[in-house]
Amino acid sequence: MKSLTLQAPAKVNYRLDVIRRRPDGYHDLRMVMQRVNLCDMITITLTETPGITVTCGKNGVPDGPGNIAWKAAKALLDLADQGVGAVIDIAKNIPVAAGLGGGSSDAATVLMGMNELLGLQLSEQRLMEIGLTLGADVPFFVFQKPALAEGVGEQLAPMPAMPPVWVLLVNPGVHVSTAWVYRSLQLTNRDGLAKLPELFRSIEDICSIFSNDLESVTIPAFPVIAEIKEIMLREGAAGAMMSGSGPTVFGLFRDRESAERARAVLTADTGWFAAVAETI
Ligand code: ATP
Repeated sequence: MKSLTLQAPAKVNYRLDVIRRRPDGYHDLRMVMQRVNLCDMITITLTETPGITVTCGKNGVPDGPGNIAWKAAKALLDLADQGVGAVIDIAKNIPVAAGLGGGSSDAATVLMGMNELLGLQLSEQRLMEIGLTLGADVPFFVFQKPALAEGVGEQLAPMPAMPPVWVLLVNPGVHVSTAWVYRSLQLTNRDGLAKLPELFRSIEDICSIFSNDLESVTIPAFPVIAEIKEIMLREGAAGAMMSGSGPTVFGLFRDRESAERARAVLTADTGWFAAVAETI
C-alpha cells in the first residue's frame, strides 16, 4: 500500500519568555522558534486493515499508543474513516526530552504525511488545530516557518526573514523534567517585555534577541549548561543559549568550519551528544 518517508526536523528557541501562569496550570509564553535540519526520519505506510503500529526502538521513546506519533495517526485515521490502518517507523536522530521538540515534530510530520496519504486535503489551519490537541509545540512544526509563538505556543505569526546560520547543538544528557522546570520557575514582573526587532540582517541581529527564562531554573541545578555556553562563546559562537526546557545548548556560527571546530572541543573527552546543523 501507499508509503511516504519524511523528515521531522528539530527546533531551537531563540527566545523563551514566560509571561504568566494560567489557571489551567499551563503558562502563557512568548517564543521565537526556528527549525534546524537535524531530523528524525519517519516512514508511514498505509495498511488495508485497521490498527496503528509505531516502532522507534530508541531508549525512552514508547512504541505504540504512548508515542505522540501514534496519537497523530489515530486522529487522522479516525477523521478519514476509510477502514485502513498505518505502520509508522521512526528513525530517531533528535535527542529525546532535550528541549529540541522531537516528539512534537514527529507528530506534526505524521499529521502532514497522513493528510497526503489519505487524500484528506485538510488545511494547514485545521492540522494545526488537531496538532494542538497533541502538544503545544505541534502547531509550530505544521507551520514550517520561523515563528513568533504566543499563548501556550498555538498563536503563531511568521518572523521576518532571517539570514541562514550554522547551529551547533550539544546535549550533556542530564535529565531535566519539563514539569519540574515550570514548577520551579519564579515569575518576576513581566510588564516590561523587550520589543523584538523587525529586521534581522545579520547573525548578531538574531543573537540580540537571545533569552530563555527557563535558564534561571536549569542553570543553578545543572551548571554544565552554563559551562557549554561559555565554551561555545570562547570557541567563536556569535551567541549561545539553552533551547526550550533544556538541557540542550545551541550556539550560532557564521560558517560550518567554526561550528565543527567548537564541536570537536566540546566532545573531545565528554561523551556529550553534538550535532552541527543549518537553520531551515
Ligand atoms: P519539547 O522541546 O517540546 O519539550 P522535548 O525535546 O523536551 O520536547 P521530546 O523528545 O519530544 O521532548 O519527548 C518528551 C517525552 O515524550 C519523552 O520522554 C518520550 O517518552 C515521550 N515521547 C512520546 N513520543 C515521542 C516521540 N515520537 N519522540 C520522542 N519522545 C516521545
